[in-house]
Amino acid sequence: MSQVFVVDTAKRPLDPVHPGRARLLLKEGKAAVYRRFPFTLILKIEIKEPEVQPLRIKLDPGSRACGIAVVNDATGTVVFAAELSHRGQKIKAALDDRRTHRRSRRQRKTRYRKPRFQNRRRKQGWLPPSLESRIANVLTWVKRLSRYAPITAISMELVKFDMQLMENAEISGVEYQQGTLAGFEVRGYLLEKWNRTCAYCSAKDTPLQVEHIIPKGKGGSNRVSNLCLACEPCNIAKGTQDIAIFLKKKPDVLKRIQAQRKAPLKDAAAVNSTRWALFERLKATSLPIECGSGGLTKWNRTRRDLPKTHWLDACNVGTSTPDMLITKDVVPLLITATGHGSRQMCVPDTFGFPKQHKTREKTFQGYMTGDTVTAVTPKGTFHGRIAIRHRPSFRLGKIDIHPKYMRRVHRADGYSYEKGVVVLLPMPEGSGTRTAH
Ligand SMILES: [Zn+2]
Repeated sequence: MSQVFVVDTAKRPLDPVHPGRARLLLKEGKAAVYRRFPFTLILKIEIKEPEVQPLRIKLDPGSRACGIAVVNDATGTVVFAAELSHRGQKIKAALDDRRTHRRSRRQRKTRYRKPRFQNRRRKQGWLPPSLESRIANVLTWVKRLSRYAPITAISMELVKFDMQLMENAEISGVEYQQGTLAGFEVRGYLLEKWNRTCAYCSAKDTPLQVEHIIPKGKGGSNRVSNLCLACEPCNIAKGTQDIAIFLKKKPDVLKRIQAQRKAPLKDAAAVNSTRWALFERLKATSLPIECGSGGLTKWNRTRRDLPKTHWLDACNVGTSTPDMLITKDVVPLLITATGHGSRQMCVPDTFGFPKQHKTREKTFQGYMTGDTVTAVTPKGTFHGRIAIRHRPSFRLGKIDIHPKYMRRVHRADGYSYEKGVVVLLPMPEGSGTRTAH
């Protein structure tokens, strides 16, 4: 079960507790709500020397979403799980939009100026803003969770395939078959390399078998360069024939396979620049980092009979994964990066002409766009993220609500949280909510 984070009076992280225990602490007035997302309590009684069990934060960074899990290695308990959705595409779209508007404005107004599009330099290690935001999102959450839980180590999935393991594992004969860790790596690698199609007939969406291009009986090795994927009919038809004989009537297919088998998998599929950059920045947090490959994650997950989700993948990253992972009743918190709004003071229409101007203030009556509120109105109770206006009528979903009906439960922090996923504990009478930021 997802547990509840607890901090002491000095805001030092303590062991997370079961939601039932958290409810009791609130009911007895021994703790107050410190933060809503992730749900965290603050104790009201002072603890001299808190003893805590070390936890590990595990990350499965992807291009769209990053799986996050906080695991107790000693007990195998998954304390917290989350799926963090990035906003890379939105950033790219916004920048593209701005670029076209500026370009058209330069065309209209300052055509006489000398072009100066090549006088800019990029710092070493520069990444496009869309990728930079992914790294920043993950770093934010690692730091944030370290504040509420006693985290002492990080595990992250760094590479998709462990090339070292694949090379070494080729010595023994049956390793290429599914069932061993090396086999997992090799299969995953081959699927990527041969685009999940049969090398001989280009059949898609069919079970594929690992095939030796030069048969083993004719001196072919188990090296990855001698392996390809074939559908069952092709595999049986080829049998132990030499590839040149099998593809005698299809010289173009033979030529393609000969070229493709030699070409190692390069580009984004094998090495991911964002992951490496994230790894470098995580090193700066001074927590020890363990790295795993995608093949290892899949191997761990399949052995524990768990379905594929971002957060379960995160739980299974690295060799430190406990043999028994307790994932029962764990509900992941769905986090979506929303950003902190834009600094643009002028809002252009679709053609790039000024439509309206924003005010200098970002708040109105103490509320800000992105705040999560509960509104109790004569028409009913509503809950969610608001968008403010500079008059007492805010947007909540598709309706307008006066701020006098609202109570803030979480301040805007650049993320939105899926409603109903987190166990919202009942608020006992009289115990005030302490919201900290
Ligand atoms: Zn085939």
